Amino acid sequence: VKFVYDFTEGNKDLKDLLGGKGANLAEMTNLGLPVPPGFTITTEACKVYLESGEEPAALRDEVSAHLVALEERMGKKLGQADDPLLVSVRSGAKFSMPGMMDTVLNIGLSDKSVQGLAQQAGDDRFAWDSYRRLIQMFGKTVLGVDGELFEEALDAAKAAKKVTVDTELEAADLKKLVTKFKKIVRTEAGRDFPQDPREQMDLAIKAVFDSWNGDRAKLYRRQERIPGDLGTAVNVCSMVFGNLGPDSGTGVAFTRDPASGHQGVYGDYLQNAQGEDVVAGIRNTVPLAELEQIDKKSYDQLLGIMETLENHYKDLCDIEFTIERGQLWMLQTRVGKRTAGAAFRIATQLVDQGLIDETEALQRVNGAQLAQLMFPRFDEEAKTQQVGRGIAASPGAAVGKAVFDSYTAVKWSRSGEKVILVRRETNPDDLDGMIAAEGILTSRGGKTSHAAVVARGMGKTCVCGAEELEVDTKRRRMTVPGGHVVEEGDVISIDGSSGKVYLGEVPVVPSPVVEYFEGRMHAGADDADELVEAVHRIMAFADRKRRLRVRANADNAEDALRARRFGAQGIGLCRTEHMFLGDRRELVERLILADTEAEREESLKQLLPLQKKDFVELFEAMDGLPVTIRLLDPPLHEFLPDITELSVRVALAESRQEPHENELRLLQAVHRLHEQNPMLGLRGVRLGLVIPGLFTMQVRAIAEAAAERKNAKGDPRAEIMIPLVGTVQELEIVREEADQVVAEVEAATGVALKLSIGTMIELPRAALTAAQIAEAAEFFSFGTNDLTQTVWGFSRDDVEASFFTAYLEKGIFGVSPFETIDKDGVGSLVKAAAKAGRETRPDLKLGVCGEHGGDPESVHFFHEVGLDYVSCSPFRIPVARLEAGRAAT
Ligand code: PEP
Ligand code: MG
Repeated sequence: VKFVYDFTEGNKDLKDLLGGKGANLAEMTNLGLPVPPGFTITTEACKVYLESGEEPAALRDEVSAHLVALEERMGKKLGQADDPLLVSVRSGAKFSMPGMMDTVLNIGLSDKSVQGLAQQAGDDRFAWDSYRRLIQMFGKTVLGVDGELFEEALDAAKAAKKVTVDTELEAADLKKLVTKFKKIVRTEAGRDFPQDPREQMDLAIKAVFDSWNGDRAKLYRRQERIPGDLGTAVNVCSMVFGNLGPDSGTGVAFTRDPASGHQGVYGDYLQNAQGEDVVAGIRNTVPLAELEQIDKKSYDQLLGIMETLENHYKDLCDIEFTIERGQLWMLQTRVGKRTAGAAFRIATQLVDQGLIDETEALQRVNGAQLAQLMFPRFDEEAKTQQVGRGIAASPGAAVGKAVFDSYTAVKWSRSGEKVILVRRETNPDDLDGMIAAEGILTSRGGKTSHAAVVARGMGKTCVCGAEELEVDTKRRRMTVPGGHVVEEGDVISIDGSSGKVYLGEVPVVPSPVVEYFEGRMHAGADDADELVEAVHRIMAFADRKRRLRVRANADNAEDALRARRFGAQGIGLCRTEHMFLGDRRELVERLILADTEAEREESLKQLLPLQKKDFVELFEAMDGLPVTIRLLDPPLHEFLPDITELSVRVALAESRQEPHENELRLLQAVHRLHEQNPMLGLRGVRLGLVIPGLFTMQVRAIAEAAAERKNAKGDPRAEIMIPLVGTVQELEIVREEADQVVAEVEAATGVALKLSIGTMIELPRAALTAAQIAEAAEFFSFGTNDLTQTVWGFSRDDVEASFFTAYLEKGIFGVSPFETIDKDGVGSLVKAAAKAGRETRPDLKLGVCGEHGGDPESVHFFHEVGLDYVSCSPFRIPVARLEAGRAAT
């Protein structure tokens, strides 16, 4: 194997081997651009070193051969006393990794060659400054000396001279500083700063290899899910100097504006300076455009190069360059980072320029960027007072008066106040308050807590699990760190994208992209936003490409209509329990408490027309598109009052000798229904099997609603879905009853209803016996929330707030499996069940309706395993459409 590549030997597609920096330096070299000569040591060499603890035997000789070739080209030897060749040694992995060792410049300088450099450059100050920089960088990154010590010495030198900037130090001062720096190295590293240039280079190369396993690099890789065994390449590059006087300098440039995508001259330039001066902000840079006045020749050449690069890479590139005494050198280029908005604009601009096609344009953007563009945001310029930070559960920026109960939230919002509902955690009782509030803040619970899931469903801002906040709902206040108390009515601001909580009002700016999806802003209109135009076009590309259909999780006509505007092709999950709250709670309570058949039937009879009305509205909103209605899923106790609250009420009434028969009955029922583990208890299909008449009432309501819509010349397409099925027998029993009810309604109304019946796959046993279950199901919808819960044995309501942080920190996962599908575990069950189900029933319709249906990475997975659709909350539909399009490219 070959471990070292000259810049003339590589190309941009060799990132695995040469790292990003090395591959692009080679690419530029081969494009004929002015790159200082050099070579790259491969990631393979690094891997051998990391595995064996020793550099590969052949490496030293290869490096020597390349060094000799470099010396011949440059006409001087590394560290040569009278005219030294100097090199930089830089790390460069496949993925850029901040937090890794970056650069050692000026390798080759020593007590001797510093004199030669001074003579060649005709500049003592420059030579001694370069030498002190070498010792400083080498000391810190190669020998592990605390960088502060050098900084302190530098500051001391400035203070002694009563100056404030480095450039005011003269050669003599710097010479003294070099002596000081060498002393620091000797004391701290226990060895002298190496005078042999080759030793300097070899040690620097080894240090770059070692930096791959530095703590910060490891942590960064875990977080970014970069494999730990890729290794880094090392670039050895001949030095050019931007600090050789006013006709020298260094800068960064973008081929177009990374914030807007506009073409133009963007970047910064610093005269008479070296690269790290720009980063360190030692002196103020000037806008790149001013280079035209400073050095017209280099400026024109740079603009030409930028055009070459953009046409070649067919993308925005960022560039680092140096001008040494009027000669322009390219030190780095790469496809540049950009804001979410610019990503969309640049992709369409490049299509218009004929540089890329639609398919490629889809690869240039992603769902996370689109999601980012859809949320209103806090004005970045605003002054803020942050008081806490929780889990960023549902993005957006919300401002309002803090209220601590739903009742007040509703009351205040009715009178026109904007409120933030602050709770320790929320439960279905808080629904009204959540709807009324601008945003929801809880001090407990994670990303799949009630507050988070419901808020995401509503597209409402939510920060949950902000544990430093002490929420006291009784006294209607919360205490923030430092002791400040937020009383009911005090204004707070919460950022659901960062999880940050602020005191007072932070100004908010709305999202034009949502205005567009809502139909309040139109692409093609004269005043249309450029961003909206770009999003509009990219969405069209995605819709043309995608195979997956996208449906919505929606429980009412309003959500359904919004979902349609956002591009939903049906409803994939209507959670009927959401229809059992509010005023109807009493009816449900009566159903649960019924002692006799007659009582039960009476409450079912009263619920029937209400349910029917819900469905009529839903079918109307989704006319012509499938609507999957899931029969009641949660355990019944969720519809009853809280056990503690109720006990207190009973006890109080008792002590006051007030009548409390009803409360007592309720309390008995709550006790009767109490379960240690309600998520594994009486819920889903089990309810349908043990509560006579419940499911059949719901089926009847669906069938009658469909018949009514048909009679009104509508096109209802109902699909009935049975939750939490574990075995085909459960499904068969429910199905038989349902079929019978549908037949009755058909007979009574004279309308032929083609209702399909299917099931959720959300238990491991269901997935494992999918072949059997498909006998009785016309469709499967994977409930990946419960499936993740049951496959991992993680309580979806608790884990994120308890040990997930530790898991994330330890790198056990990079992201919660409740957010992104765990492909190896849960995903493999989905895949196998899909396959088995289709073997039984080739036309089995397959979808997913867990939270993962709107998660970018998961959407790709569902595309790959051949599902027909994903279903997600209305606000995530554009993201799912986009990612489904990207998955199909
Ligand atoms: C699921 O479990 O994935 C699902 C969609 O159902 P729910 O979230 O209502 O339990
Ligand atoms: Mg479920």
